[in-house]
Amino acid sequence: MYYEAESYPSPGLPVKDPCLSFWLQNTRSSSLLGHRTTESLPPSVDVVIIGSGLSGAATAYYLLTGLNPPKSVLMLEAREACDGATGRNGGHCRPYVFQGYHEYKKIFGKEEALKIIAFDMANLHLMTELIEKEQIDCDFWLGESYETSLDQEAADKKLDSYQMFKEDGGPIEGVVKMTTDSDEAKRLTRMRNAVLTASFPAASLFPYKLVSHLLQLCISKFGLNLQTHTPVTAVGTSAQTITKADAQWIITTPRGKVMANKVIFATNAYTATLLPEFLGNIVPGQGQCAAIVPTPSYSGKGMMDKTCCYYWGKDHFDYLIQRPKDGIIILGGGKDSSPRPGAILGCTNDSGRTGEGGKQAEITEYFKSAMDKYFGGWHDPNSDQRGDSLRSGEGLLYDWTGIMGFTRDNIPFVGNVEGKPGAYVIAGHCGHGMARIASCAKGLAMLISGASWSDTSLPESFRPTKKRMRQTSQTTKNNEEV
Ligand SMILES: Cc1cc2nc3c(=O)[nH]c(=O)nc-3n(C[C@H](O)[C@H](O)[C@H](O)COP(=O)(O)OP(=O)(O)OC[C@H]3O[C@@H](n4cnc5c(N)ncnc54)[C@H](O)[C@@H]3O)c2cc1C
Repeated sequence: MYYEAESYPSPGLPVKDPCLSFWLQNTRSSSLLGHRTTESLPPSVDVVIIGSGLSGAATAYYLLTGLNPPKSVLMLEAREACDGATGRNGGHCRPYVFQGYHEYKKIFGKEEALKIIAFDMANLHLMTELIEKEQIDCDFWLGESYETSLDQEAADKKLDSYQMFKEDGGPIEGVVKMTTDSDEAKRLTRMRNAVLTASFPAASLFPYKLVSHLLQLCISKFGLNLQTHTPVTAVGTSAQTITKADAQWIITTPRGKVMANKVIFATNAYTATLLPEFLGNIVPGQGQCAAIVPTPSYSGKGMMDKTCCYYWGKDHFDYLIQRPKDGIIILGGGKDSSPRPGAILGCTNDSGRTGEGGKQAEITEYFKSAMDKYFGGWHDPNSDQRGDSLRSGEGLLYDWTGIMGFTRDNIPFVGNVEGKPGAYVIAGHCGHGMARIASCAKGLAMLISGASWSDTSLPESFRPTKKRMRQTSQTTKNNEEV
């Protein structure tokens, strides 16, 4: 994801009228709605976490259940709990297993690129372990995903990455099944234009249920204080303590100020509002997603047996999961059909209203036809009941928007913000957070509790160093010249 740093203003605070995603529509009975563990804010705490998406919730969980847990943890959330990207994503927990290796190697070199890819697979295991251990009812499905190329350009790019990863010793045996025979790829994926497909382990889940379970657990068992509808408007420190290891942070909200020894920014797309050094280093970007009711040929025994991501051209793609729980298909992407693809980056409007920087009508239209366009037999020709048309209630159920945080080097920022003792960030997940955040949060919690970087499994490249923030734009320019 490449962009010019200068072009993006401060993201501001999350907008006040966010839409409800398919997930959020189904959680209107949650006891977390409007939750405030205490009536007023405590004047001082050990740790403040800003943001209650998966980054905030998983960091709280690993901090409070790890070694040396802090005495008090306060979570401040501008909206309802889990009302950012996590509450409105595709529910796809899908690691990079070789895809993307090519690009990562160009930026970071072979060893680090291999670590970044291995980190994703470790995250899938960690998510599975976490959900099993805590018995989290979040419609978790562990299976496989297809990575399918729909034309030769996309297939060549995919094969390049696959072969390079294999030659560099990447663990591919027993993990990735590559099919280069296009007829076989079509048969397996049911996609009309499949040229090539690879399959590998992946998962799907109901993101709000995962996060709300973690938050409830932290509140009821480990003393987390969650305060929803409490936006943080500024974070500072007194001039005397800024350079000291025990700096006291002052967190300002419309409901009063809180002092903390440590502050964690789990604010993804909005990080630069509170930490201006991230301006241009984490840039917001709007995504659109749809819930689709399948036709009979994709229901019951005809349901898809794997999730998928399909590519065409240089870098166009959609992704989907079919929920085993109810057969609903969650389809994300559609950017190719946008008349303003450039405006998606920099956009912070997740009100879900069509137009004016909000939901894009062209993408909604695209979602209506995408299944039929790409998947064979979507409209069942043998059904004399329906011919080519959909029954009332089939097809697009609803679509919504959400805001992601993108970085120039396509990896998140995780760790201590250089030059700011006691300030930590876990943000910039580049639309790939479900595939990384649990491991990022576990590593961050270890760092905060006193472990060294090498004790964690975090790739070195994730560090929020001044050097990285300065250098990214230069690296990007060099890469683009290659
Ligand atoms: C449409 C869409 C589809 C996606 N699909 C997938 C997918 O299928 N798979 C995948 O891996 N990833 C996907 N993603 C990306 C994924 O959702 C994110 O990477 C992940 O949820 C980020 O989690 P987070 O906790 O870091 O951020 P968020 O969930 O955005 O949480 C940040 C929280 O911080 C709060 N906040 C921000 N500023 C302040 C402030 N000043 N004061 C108080 N609170 C504040 C926000 O309100 C928000 O609740 C998708 C994203 C979108 C938008």
